[in-house]
Amino acid sequence: MITLALSKGRIFEETLPLLKAAGIAVLDDPERSRKLILDTNLPDVRLLVVRATDVPTYVQYGGADLGITGKDTLLEHGGQGLYQPLDLQIAKCRMSVAVRADFDYASAIKQGSRLTVATKFVAIAREFFASKGVHVDLIKLYGSMELAPLVGMADAIVDVVSTGGTLKANHLVEVEQIMEISSRLVVNQAALKLKREPIRKIIDAFASAIVVPA
Ligand code: AMP
Repeated sequence: MITLALSKGRIFEETLPLLKAAGIAVLDDPERSRKLILDTNLPDVRLLVVRATDVPTYVQYGGADLGITGKDTLLEHGGQGLYQPLDLQIAKCRMSVAVRADFDYASAIKQGSRLTVATKFVAIAREFFASKGVHVDLIKLYGSMELAPLVGMADAIVDVVSTGGTLKANHLVEVEQIMEISSRLVVNQAALKLKREPIRKIIDAFASAIVVPA
């Protein structure tokens, strides 16, 4: 049995063409079904539907052999025990710093004052501001980070941005881009040894279906 961990939503949708290239069709619709283990057309391949932030953990501990997860989630997890063979070039966005439109970010970081930053991505934020020599107080949130500067709880947020629509709707502006984000294939290292053939076949099929941007 080969088990692949995925999260619902954007990553799941964009993974379907890759699964198809590997000859895998999902028999249940994860948006409708309450099942957490989805069958596929292949009797020895199944999918786990887990929270996006849990995908690396399921693969690390062998609950799944393979997983698809954003680079952001992977960096926060740390990547222990995971082989990362492919950048799948899906679910693309960027990790950015954003502030209220009336906040003078340039002066704040130049003056060496401490910046209060709200984010779900504390490891990425810590590393980024440390590399710039900016002192930060981090506030960990689990969602709707855009609110924090609006209610005076933080000077800035670190969040993923796609179209920029969410920032704009909340009168926030992007002041720095930290990194480009896309989703990666991760593989449990022990599973790769024990189930080398079937896992290799999936990696190769995914590799052949990656659409590299022009
Ligand atoms: P947007 O308004 O298009 O900039 O999208 C911003 C929001 O959508 C962010 O706050 C994220 O929660 C979410 N988002 C956008 N793209 C991604 C992605 N590739 N992976 C995870 N979340 C995303």
